[in-house]
Amino acid sequence: MKYDYLIVGAGLFGSVFAYEAKKKGKTCLVIDRRDHIGGNVYCENRNGINVHKYGAHIFHTSNKEVWEYVNQFSEFNNYVNSPVAVYKDELYNLPFNMNTFSKLWGIRTPQEAKDKIAEQIAQLNITEPKNLEEQALSLVGRDVYEKLIKGYTEKQWGRPCSELPSFIIKRLPLRFIYDNNYFNDRYQGIPMGGYTKIVEKMLDGVDVKLNTDYFDFIEKNGDVAEKTIFTGMIDEFYHYQLGTLQYRTVRFETEELECENYQGNAVVNYTDREVPYTRIIEHKHFEFGKQKTTIISREYSSEWKPGIEPYYPINDEKNNTLFAKYRELADKETKVIFGGRLGNYKYYDMDKVIEAALELVKKEL
Ligand code: UDP
Repeated sequence: MKYDYLIVGAGLFGSVFAYEAKKKGKTCLVIDRRDHIGGNVYCENRNGINVHKYGAHIFHTSNKEVWEYVNQFSEFNNYVNSPVAVYKDELYNLPFNMNTFSKLWGIRTPQEAKDKIAEQIAQLNITEPKNLEEQALSLVGRDVYEKLIKGYTEKQWGRPCSELPSFIIKRLPLRFIYDNNYFNDRYQGIPMGGYTKIVEKMLDGVDVKLNTDYFDFIEKNGDVAEKTIFTGMIDEFYHYQLGTLQYRTVRFETEELECENYQGNAVVNYTDREVPYTRIIEHKHFEFGKQKTTIISREYSSEWKPGIEPYYPINDEKNNTLFAKYRELADKETKVIFGGRLGNYKYYDMDKVIEAALELVKKEL
């Protein structure tokens, strides 16, 4: 049988596309290298706790259409992400807000915080921030940068802040109110019962082949579909012929502990360089779990190498330039469409992935 679409990757992008294509009477075959669907949003239920196996995923968006879209597959709870940062023996609220400033400087009012930051920024003489370090310093001043940004960012990205693009830090809000909500978005929550169920619903009635590598598969089944939606790494698709794009990977050290509540919060960031991991996730808190035990994951960040999972594209100038060259090749394709974080080499959040998939649906179907 010949399908209308071969969809490579059973993550959010591929699954949204498959769901919409099926509704429109198209046939799809979804293949994935892994032994499960869901891509990196996959949750594994262990003793009643949904473990975010490939890192914490907190759904947030300001796009009402996307919010309503995901809500048709699952009810979402009212979880609000409010991470805590540990720097040596000090503890601060994130994102950078009045709770953070008050603890840092013993102050109380927004004006005092603004004055303190302004005073630190004035000493720097940065007119036009050229990298993450200058961007961060000129937004929040030296204290916040040194204690809450520098160490974390350099562990996370494995590069000095002065060599990283500034957009990464603009993901984080800066507020002069007492508000620990990590996101500025209108809608936020965790799907009750986990993300895997959402993707199961999207792929209901769609042919799925797991443990299937695209390159092996296509060698044997070259002509399986009219078109291919490829959500893997774009440079791998082209056999790295123009060079390799860089990615960061994350290693998770996950353990179950015989205690009910280990750290009192879903996300605790470790912002000094000495602690080797970037953060500890305590999964039960995403769903207000009351289980007797708990499961935590320490996250260790490192440079990606072939054979391991890529997580974050490194969108610095060098890599973006190389990606643009791959993009030129991609633009010439008439039967292959690239999508998702890896296919587009973009630091996309989940809502942006869904938005992009729905846009493709409009164009393509
Ligand atoms: N960041 C930081 N300190 C923190 C948390 C984040 O400096 O305690 C910076 C860091 O550079 C990180 C970026 O903000 O890469 C984006 O953080 P986010 O939490 O959005 O990253 P993700 O959850 O996607 O890993």
